[in-house]
Amino acid sequence: MQPKNSLDYHKVFSKIGSQLEHTDNLGEVASYIPELFNVDPKKFGIHLSTVENRHFDYGDSKERFSIQSISKVLSLSMAFKLEGTALWERVGVEPSGNAFNSLSQLELECGIPRNPFINAGALLICDVLVSHLTNPKEEFIDFVRALVGKDNINYCERIALSEKEHGFRNAAMVNFMKSYGNIKNDVEEVLDFYFNLCSIEMSCAELSQAMMYLCSNGINPLTNEEVVTPSRAKRINAIMQLCGFYDEAGEFSFKVGLPGKSGVGGGIIAIHPKKYSIAIWSPRLNEKGNSYRGMKILEFITTQTKSSIF
Ligand code: GLU
Repeated sequence: MQPKNSLDYHKVFSKIGSQLEHTDNLGEVASYIPELFNVDPKKFGIHLSTVENRHFDYGDSKERFSIQSISKVLSLSMAFKLEGTALWERVGVEPSGNAFNSLSQLELECGIPRNPFINAGALLICDVLVSHLTNPKEEFIDFVRALVGKDNINYCERIALSEKEHGFRNAAMVNFMKSYGNIKNDVEEVLDFYFNLCSIEMSCAELSQAMMYLCSNGINPLTNEEVVTPSRAKRINAIMQLCGFYDEAGEFSFKVGLPGKSGVGGGIIAIHPKKYSIAIWSPRLNEKGNSYRGMKILEFITTQTKSSIF
């Protein structure tokens, strides 16, 4: 028998087209690197994967885009698995309330980033991974491929290079943390790894599959392997809830009511623990750097299905 919640998703997905007609497509496509600006702003895709392995999608759900900071969820998961709770001596779990690339907070807090999703924190996570892995780029992309179940998930060289050419603030942050002894490896190696992580390309269908372990107690449903323990899956979801949307995490919680993470490529991933993972892509960003339509349609979905974590 079809689970009741699947029927609800089917109904709500059938209304997305008309809902989009009533939703503005405001905001701007990220332009801080030319490679990101080159995207059709009308693109819109969405894919929901349930723990019963049912799938619902709409629009450009199979087209790959730059997942940008959404990869920070995956790098955090891998670093947490490798480093364990010692990780939290070097990075906090508090919302920052500041822009993702702010330097001032880092100075006030002596080189300990507020959380793993602001840039400073994600750079710190890259440093942890560089310490643990022999070939960080290869091993990380293999980790992601196993979550998606596809061998052809890749970094985008053009975007990574473009990130590097414009990555002065990120370079400043790593150097700054290094001055406090909180970065252990070569600054250039950490930055190179970070820029590559930002450049990974995936479709909504692939992203929602990749994140299924966060709604399945840490288990990758494709392989039945443990990605992180159930307790760590809980903690990663908690950090997404509090810190996943730059300084708009409160707004996302308030309107959507799910843990999630956005990226400046216009993607958002949201998790309903024990139920589903949903990925959405619409490139125009609001003032805070989150997908304008993505936020609105996710709010529509949790409102229509009357289901959130609250
Ligand atoms: N690649 C970006 C940067 O470090 C991250 C963008 C994002 O937050 O999605 O500047």
